[in-house]
Amino acid sequence: FVFFSSDIEISRAQSPKAVDVLAKEIGLLTDEIEIYGQTKAKVRLSLLERLKDQPDGKYVLVAGITPTPLGEGKSTVTIGLVQALTAHLNINSFACLRQPSQGPTFGVKGGAAGGGYAQVIPMEEFNLHLTGDIHAITAANNLLAAAIDARILHENTQSDKSLYNRLVPVVNGVRGFSAIQLARLRRLGISKTDPETLTEEEISKFVRLDIDPSTITWQRVVDTNDRFLRKITVGQANTEKGLVRQAQFDIAVASEIMAILALTTSLQDMKERLGKMVVANDKKGEPVTAEDLGVTGALAVLMKDAIKPTLMQTLEGTPVFVHAGPFANIAHGNSSVLADKIALKLVGEKGFVVTEAGFGADIGMEKFFNIKCRASGLVPSVVVLVATVRALKMHGGGPNVTAGAPLKKEYTEENLQLVADGCCNLQKQIQITQLFGVPVVVALNVFKTDSPAEVDLVCKIAKESGAFDAVPCNHWSAGGRGAVKLAQAVEKAANQKNSFKYLYNLELPIVEKIRIIAQKVYGAQDVELSPIAQSQVDRYTRQGFGNLPICMAKTHLSLSHQPERKGVPTGFILPISDVRASIGAGFIYPLVGTMSTMPGLPTRPCFYDIDLDPITEQVKGLF
Ligand code: ADP
Repeated sequence: FVFFSSDIEISRAQSPKAVDVLAKEIGLLTDEIEIYGQTKAKVRLSLLERLKDQPDGKYVLVAGITPTPLGEGKSTVTIGLVQALTAHLNINSFACLRQPSQGPTFGVKGGAAGGGYAQVIPMEEFNLHLTGDIHAITAANNLLAAAIDARILHENTQSDKSLYNRLVPVVNGVRGFSAIQLARLRRLGISKTDPETLTEEEISKFVRLDIDPSTITWQRVVDTNDRFLRKITVGQANTEKGLVRQAQFDIAVASEIMAILALTTSLQDMKERLGKMVVANDKKGEPVTAEDLGVTGALAVLMKDAIKPTLMQTLEGTPVFVHAGPFANIAHGNSSVLADKIALKLVGEKGFVVTEAGFGADIGMEKFFNIKCRASGLVPSVVVLVATVRALKMHGGGPNVTAGAPLKKEYTEENLQLVADGCCNLQKQIQITQLFGVPVVVALNVFKTDSPAEVDLVCKIAKESGAFDAVPCNHWSAGGRGAVKLAQAVEKAANQKNSFKYLYNLELPIVEKIRIIAQKVYGAQDVELSPIAQSQVDRYTRQGFGNLPICMAKTHLSLSHQPERKGVPTGFILPISDVRASIGAGFIYPLVGTMSTMPGLPTRPCFYDIDLDPITEQVKGLF
């Protein structure tokens, strides 16, 4: 490779092989792929049926230390590792990555295709619309949002009889229930199937969802960092008869449908999960679902292609699945179960599937194990924990960094004391991994400013802290070649004894599960629930949702709830301000403080640098 300065230039300097060639190389049949352009293809789920007797490969999770504004490089390590395994060690491997949201791509963070010589290409395809999955999620989400408000309006303005005549129309001289309506009748305890025989009381029960507008939790979404939509008023036109209410937009990747896409195991399962989504309570306090609104089938139709993972490739031509990308704060922050399952079959028993969990191990990895592995039934073989010297220095008390300003000398010159002090965070994240009984290999992502003594020190402390191995990696500057040692360490670790276990039993009370995560993972003394949080816990328990896993919505910038507390904070009580539920996705999510579900644009957003050359049609400025 010739060295270029930017990720997009490196990406463009390598021409990807045609995706049908890649598909053939990894054993896909012609009718198992749907090609989008020349470099992307969706893979049909029928593959799982064909390969069901094939043993799974080894399953590797890439997680990180507590993130800092200096960046750790989990995606680059994930990609560098598969490049090393497949292109340099000749071992089948697959990377399974999340699809980035366009919010950060145009906002603060930029894309997520990796970087340097460890990237998914073409990176502009990866970082922009890809195969339209996020658009499908947005469409499905907003159809449901529209259905809720329209239903409230219609119930408010029509009599029972008029609602019934419209909901159960006469077609060809006969009034008939749809399958969804028959299911609703059964849920209401009405066993009749002839619409003409319902009593007035039964009709009223059937036609009125009686949604309490103040309890609506379903929000509209858009995949843009549009902060002015954080609080809005809907229904202001006269045609909406004064049914004005306050609402909000969330970013599309924070939606429950995104979380469902990431956790689902089949079309049937996705349909069931979509139907179970609770959008509000009725006036008696009972949950109202998407199924009650009659929209499940339509949502499944909108999502039928999004459920198929998209095949792409790394800079070194090795296969990658890009699929789903739920927020790691209010959702579980991991790519899809389906992509992992398909990849594990494709690589074969000796192969490796490497996937990544968002944020630090305390957040993304904890959710990977307790939520994603529960949904998939898959058992991980190894955790790769990514750290950088720079980020550890910040955990050791290094100065804050300001966007746009040059890095302070603490980060560009050797400072062994800061590194040693910051390794407490790495040590704690290693201990958290060990709670789950999976061997951990530390990948030290080397930056050109790191001194050899700093690199050695981190690796030494990591090994003394219980890591199976700790290896410096140079994939960012050298591609797969720079991660060969990591790949060899991962291969060895995968043959270690693995005593994987979940952290808590689902049958424990909700608060007990929260307390276990807070104390064992975050290192909190205890938890403290606000009165609202406690009443929500009581409500969900009464409604029968108490046995779901927990998806903590907490800042990723600290092990505690206070983002400025780096290293390993101690002696704190974790405040739970509210507790919500994503019933279709299948988790309860306690809010630790306030979590933003709609990022904003900064003064100088990434879009300043993004441009299109109208002659060559090339995209510029993505990173
Ligand atoms: P994460 O997955 O932890 O958010 P990424 O792998 O996406 O981090 O990396 C974040 C950014 O840092 C990318 O732009 C990438 O190119 C850059 N980066 C990662 N590793 C290195 C490195 N070793 N040297 C220089 N830049 C790097």
